[in-house]
Amino acid sequence: MSDCIFCKIVAGDLPSKKVYEDDQILAFHDIQPASPIHVLIIPKKHIVSLADAGDEDWALIGHIQGAAAQIARELEVEQSGYRVITNIGANAGQIVHHLHYHLMAGARLSPLGV
Ligand code: 5GP
Ligand code: ZN
Repeated sequence: MSDCIFCKIVAGDLPSKKVYEDDQILAFHDIQPASPIHVLIIPKKHIVSLADAGDEDWALIGHIQGAAAQIARELEVEQSGYRVITNIGANAGQIVHHLHYHLMAGARLSPLGV
């Protein structure tokens, strides 16, 4: 997707502070962190959101979840706790329309809700 900022980050056309990368996924620090540790984990493949994922994508999405746990371990927030979430669509506040999981940690996070 030529107009997608996360595809541009994957392609190296936009810079990012990388935390983890393999052939399928990329993790990098959020440009506007909402918590002391705020990492985004994305598939390199352009998928709009979880709602647009197909049966062929579930292994990839499982891989993202596994990477989140591994990154949390490496950032040493496993004991203190962390949150992994993905926003889907307008009511959830999805701004970037390329599937991404937020890994948030480093402070007591506010409860989820309205
Ligand atoms: P959403 O609201 O779509 O779930 O979250 C999008 C996230 O992407 C936001 O937390 C925002 O700060 C982050 N973001 C938007 N543009 C960029 C960018 O160019 N680089 C990085 N690293 N993060 C971005
Ligand atoms: Zn994209």
